[in-house]
This record gives sequence, structure tokens and C-alpha cells, in this order.
Amino acid sequence: MYGRLTVICGPMFAGKTTELLKRILWARNGERKDVLVLKTAFDVRYSRTEVITHDGLAAEAVVLHAFSDVEARLQEADLVCFDEVQFFQNMDRDVVELIRDLLASGTDVVAAGLDTNWKGEAFAATGLLMAMADEVVKLKAHCAVCGQPAHKTFKKVEDNVEIQLGHGDLYEPRCNRHWFDHLPLLSLSRAPAEGEISNV
Ligand SMILES: [Zn+2]
Repeated sequence: MYGRLTVICGPMFAGKTTELLKRILWARNGERKDVLVLKTAFDVRYSRTEVITHDGLAAEAVVLHAFSDVEARLQEADLVCFDEVQFFQNMDRDVVELIRDLLASGTDVVAAGLDTNWKGEAFAATGLLMAMADEVVKLKAHCAVCGQPAHKTFKKVEDNVEIQLGHGDLYEPRCNRHWFDHLPLLSLSRAPAEGEISNV
């Protein structure tokens, strides 16, 4: 049977990890008991395990740099979960292709991650997986300025670094208005002016 793909996405601070942990718990209590949770880390050289926790829920995750590190486990697992799936883009295999192979071999997949960076640009892996998914759970946070639903991640430090690890010190959730109003203009791709040749 073809596996089921669930994508959990949204800005930072939207509860994506909690939603992922919930799915892991459901799987373990159900029939799909063998769950493999994968993470990547920029600062870890070799595979190691790490426990991800949130709101009293916990799961052990394998921190990896190459899919070849967990090849045998990928074949055994009933459910493979990816935490921060946007960081799997530059691995030894294309993450989207790898997930297609898992689904084709009957393995269920849950991929949680950011849908856009702080500039509002889509992460390719998350976007493609959302298109392929049986279920997309798009979560929202609360705007740090006004408390309204927030779909964007706002970077509090003014630089143009696209991917930078950080949490509350660097980022906060913002509604569209409070995200866009304070976005440095340089970081936005400029729409072509009237009469200008566009390749669209
Ligand atoms: Zn707001």
C-alpha cells in the first residue's frame, strides 16, 4: 500500500513540534509502532540521538548528516518523521525523492517544518511536500505585536542572512501587517516596474 504523507507547517512558535509529537504518540499507540524521528543539525558532526520535548511530550530523534547513516532503519520503520524538514535540503539524497520512495514502499511519513523563511519566500522542500501531501496541517502563531493570528516569522535583527539558527532572540511570529511593515526593503524581491521586461 502507498504510504500516507502528512505535512505540518507554519511559522516559528506555531506549535509544529507539539503537533509532530502528537502524531508520533498516535502512531505508537496504534498499529504503526516502529517510528523513526529524524532531525538535522548544523553543529553536530556525527549522528547522535536527541530527545525532543514539548508540553510534557517527548520522543527520541536521530540527528543525522547523511541518509546513508540510517539506511537500514529507514527500511524497517512504519512511520518516518522529519523535524525541521527544510533543513534536509542539502543532504546526500534529495529529501523529496527519498520521501517518495518511502511512500512507495508503504511507509507513512510526517514532515514538520517552516513553510517560508523570514522574507516570506517558500522553502522548496516544504512546498513540494505540501503539494504531494494527503494532509497539510498549516498552523499559525500569535503576532508578537498585536496578538492576532500570525503566519509569518519576523527576524528581529537587521541583516540578510537567509538561514540562521536561533529562537526567541532572533525571531518572533508576526501577522502579515506587522511582518510586512517592518521588513527591510532590501530583502524583498522587487516586482518589475511597468514596461520593464519580465521573464514571467
Ligand atoms: Zn500583528
